[in-house]
Amino acid sequence: MTTLPEDKAVPVAEGLFTWPDRGVEWGSSPLGQAEPDRGVEGGSSPLGQAEPDRGVEGGSSPLGQAEPDRPCLIGSTCTACGTTTFPAQGSCPRCTGTDLRTGPLAQTGRLWSWTIQGFEPKPPYAADGPFTPYGVGYVELSTEDGTGTVLVESRLTEADPARLEIGAPMRLTFISLRRDASGAKVMTFAFEPAGAVAQIGGAA
Ligand SMILES: [Zn+2]
Repeated sequence: MTTLPEDKAVPVAEGLFTWPDRGVEWGSSPLGQAEPDRGVEGGSSPLGQAEPDRGVEGGSSPLGQAEPDRPCLIGSTCTACGTTTFPAQGSCPRCTGTDLRTGPLAQTGRLWSWTIQGFEPKPPYAADGPFTPYGVGYVELSTEDGTGTVLVESRLTEADPARLEIGAPMRLTFISLRRDASGAKVMTFAFEPAGAVAQIGGAA
């Protein structure tokens, strides 16, 4: 028999964000290009991620070197018009181009708009325990290589209106929504106020 570790966690959906034990098993999906460990700041060329034929066959999981506790959201950027979308898509919503480059989004951004979810949403919303209000917002993120920005709709860890401010820096985090049938925590992304964080807005 198997005993599930207390902290066993699984992503709520595939392809939204990188996950330590997920490796690259996205097949021919464009998501296969996501290489969160490329760490743009150190790399020679941020464009190294733009490999349409996926340069990931090189053995070990590209996730292996990623900060295990800091997964990234995965977006896609149209090579024709530069539109970035999240979640990653196979075709561009603006120009219908199909040459999209998939890659990690920055882990910090700015709060663009927000509200408080004050009542329990209809299914498929599911959570354990009694409903508690939570924040929902749009966070403006840039791609890690700074070539695009996208508004990401997300849960917020903060539900106190007094502590949410448009334009405030936000940082990606992950929260447990519920336990699945096996007892694993079902994780989704969320954003938390980042306080004074320097690297907002992308490029620098
Ligand atoms: Zn486009």
